[in-house]
Amino acid sequence: MKRNLNYRRRPTSEVKIGNVKVGGDAPVILQSMTSTSTMDTPGSVAQIERIADAGGEMVRLTAQGEREAVNLTEIRDRVREEGYDTPLVADIHFSPKAAFAAAERVEKVRINPGNFVDPGRVFRKIEFTDEEYAAEIGKIERGLLPLLEICRAHGTALRIGVNHGSLSDRIMSRYGDTPAGMVESAMEFLRVCVAHDFKDVVISIKASNVRVMTETVRRLVKAMDAEDMHFPLHLGVTEAGDGEDGRVKSAVGIGSLLVDGIGDTIRVSLSEAPEAEIPVARAITDHVVSISNHLPQAEEVEVAETFDDADPAPRRGRFSPKVPVVVGLDLQPDAGWIDLTVENFDDRINEILAAPERYVVANLSAVAPVTEGKVILHRLAEAGAENPVILHRDYSDTPTDTTITAAIEMGSLLLSGYSDGLWIEDKKMTKEQLESLALNVLQATRQRISKTEYISCPGCGRTLYDLQTAIARIKEATGHLTGLKIGIMGCIVNGPGEMADADYGYVGAGVGNVSLYKGKQCMVKNIPTEEALPRLIQLIKDNGDWKDPE
Ligand code: SF4
Repeated sequence: MKRNLNYRRRPTSEVKIGNVKVGGDAPVILQSMTSTSTMDTPGSVAQIERIADAGGEMVRLTAQGEREAVNLTEIRDRVREEGYDTPLVADIHFSPKAAFAAAERVEKVRINPGNFVDPGRVFRKIEFTDEEYAAEIGKIERGLLPLLEICRAHGTALRIGVNHGSLSDRIMSRYGDTPAGMVESAMEFLRVCVAHDFKDVVISIKASNVRVMTETVRRLVKAMDAEDMHFPLHLGVTEAGDGEDGRVKSAVGIGSLLVDGIGDTIRVSLSEAPEAEIPVARAITDHVVSISNHLPQAEEVEVAETFDDADPAPRRGRFSPKVPVVVGLDLQPDAGWIDLTVENFDDRINEILAAPERYVVANLSAVAPVTEGKVILHRLAEAGAENPVILHRDYSDTPTDTTITAAIEMGSLLLSGYSDGLWIEDKKMTKEQLESLALNVLQATRQRISKTEYISCPGCGRTLYDLQTAIARIKEATGHLTGLKIGIMGCIVNGPGEMADADYGYVGAGVGNVSLYKGKQCMVKNIPTEEALPRLIQLIKDNGDWKDPE
């Protein structure tokens, strides 16, 4: 039975990808990606079918070269023979030839503007005159045109997929590692598509940092609107990790954009089995659809502007500079706090203004607390209240998964720069679970860092070691290093770039081998995975970032 994932969203053009429509009036489409080698036909077919059985409506496979792209024919035919019509997508980095071959075989090809025409990154600053820069743009057109023609001839759609971690050295040199650079990277390719009247384009712009990802998508929407482009959007948080961390990061990032009507297809990237991503994606979209009639429209509630490219550290609460508190962990409910709702606002505002040091508890109980919270906080700001505000919601009677629901709702408000504290209640959860959830939501929005941050990719056909086991072991050994960012990536091709701002990196380097990084610098090359964890710990120690667990 088809789920209703349709609701009022940003108007977009419709792109047909096999039997699936993305954008226009189509519901939000759920997708995932295989982690098998694309040369492993039976393994890839089995995984595609598991994703489809879980409800995935589109499946991506990596095609690192022509050989893998050609094998997509075999995989596609086997999948179709077994009765699955799920559209397949080839994921291409660095190899236009693989893109050309894949575009003849599968329903959609994803290319990365950071490496489709530009060479692989060397993390070097390159100076360009305006003329040289314009000449580089000409190269993009010449590189992309043959692919557009093959796609046109075969009815293949294109995804232009920008990743924060794999911007080209050219874009980095001119714009830096910023949302502005990511948006321009996408727009350069989109302008070529528009100039050549190629319409079957979906666009994505992802980052592992949720604040960067949401801000960049919003800016891309504005940039496209300014040039009268209406391409549908694929949303995702890259390298979100696994377990609750990965679910919360994805729900905050994807959910807060969907809540604002942005997004036409989503992928939740977890470092778990690919089919495990689909129920999470479904929980996010189902919740947004369920509250969609109650969501604010842009003209009704102004969203606070809190992102500054020059200073991307989040503002610590709208009303006070303190790090947000977690009620139950840092503070217990206090009779001196002022309870506020939309309904009692006029009765309480004078009391609030008279005592700016007193906490105000914004009690959210409506179907759509994002709307309710924004209304309360907006009215407080308009009234000139400077009191610290705690967002409070009791999810005890909510039938949906509180982890996902609270991450979407509280995350949306926190990303807007609101709030000095979180108070999440749910009688179905333990005190520890509630505290962990609140801290995870604060960490995902980078409002409060309370533990090690892991940036781990989901793995794909390029991964040549046991990524999930490595993640579990590294987390166990380093989970106490609060604030340290550790990247755990499947491959050397994209891993070093895509682990973004990680302090240390553990990156697949060949069959059963990994390399270790300090920032972007490779410090230990090609060691067997059995030796890698102690060497990583040693590297952290050598750089003075280790402390023993308490
Ligand atoms: S970083 Fe991970 S998901 Fe990305 S290409 Fe490499 S192995 Fe695949």
